[in-house]
Amino acid sequence: MTRQNRMIVALDIGGTKIASALVDDTGARRSPVSRRPTPRDGEGIVRAVIDQAAAAKERAERPVDGIGIATAGVVDRQGRVVAATDLLPGWAGRDLAGDVERALGTPTTALNDVHATAVAEHALGSARGLETALIVAVGTGIGGAIVSRGRLAHGRTGLAGTFAHLPSGLDEGRRCACGEVDHLEPYVSGPGMQRTYRNLSGVDTRLEQIAHASRHGDALAGEALASGGRLLGRWLAHLATTLDPDAVIVGGGAAGTGDPYWSSLRQCFAESAYGPVREVPVRAAALGTDAPLVGAALAAVGALTGSIPG
Ligand SMILES: [Zn+2]
Repeated sequence: MTRQNRMIVALDIGGTKIASALVDDTGARRSPVSRRPTPRDGEGIVRAVIDQAAAAKERAERPVDGIGIATAGVVDRQGRVVAATDLLPGWAGRDLAGDVERALGTPTTALNDVHATAVAEHALGSARGLETALIVAVGTGIGGAIVSRGRLAHGRTGLAGTFAHLPSGLDEGRRCACGEVDHLEPYVSGPGMQRTYRNLSGVDTRLEQIAHASRHGDALAGEALASGGRLLGRWLAHLATTLDPDAVIVGGGAAGTGDPYWSSLRQCFAESAYGPVREVPVRAAALGTDAPLVGAALAAVGALTGSIPG
């Protein structure tokens, strides 16, 4: 008899959309990804997750073994959301894994979305097989994760690798989604670079448009992207000098903007890192927007089998 792969309902809760799909224990997607808008309150988000997971369970051709949920916010080992920024109002304090498991009767695992991305990149992507890696995602917010000894580092509270709320060293008074001012996130995130471009050019537009303008010779667009890349590169160098990883992996929407973002990031990384850490490769993430779904599924499989993901 051939072994059947375990089947997982994977969900990814972002600031604007909740994505869901069936994913098996090899990380292969077994259904199309369905996306619905994220409700604007914590109770509504939990209800939407339960509805979406129930619909995916019904569509599955055989019984589902587990549910894996990736979400923005800090998530503890029990799958409770212990902190979240204004990107998800009312999200902190939710017993996410517990509520979903009680509603659907299926074992449920929840973890931070960038932690999930790191699990996926370490199993199947740019960090595959590495002993130590720093993995960051730059999108609407910024997130990070650490793989150490070949495993995802969770930290005491679930915060390990999160570097969004370190001081940027800049003093424009930009408000961070956490409520403080001049943290890294409001400068380095996609909206942060949009704001830099607006300050330089007076034009308010999306990151993809800024990248497009830069490719067509708009020097101010190039400078907005390069300044985000430089600041991120400097901080990644500080973090890498502490961690001494085998590689630094950068994903999310900003990573898709090409040069001058990447050239500035890599140059600033090399200039700011200490000694041999200058040689640490800084690579693009391999798995794209599905990575949190894949990582959430692999984490759920790890919880079911007692193995530790990452
Ligand atoms: Zn902050």
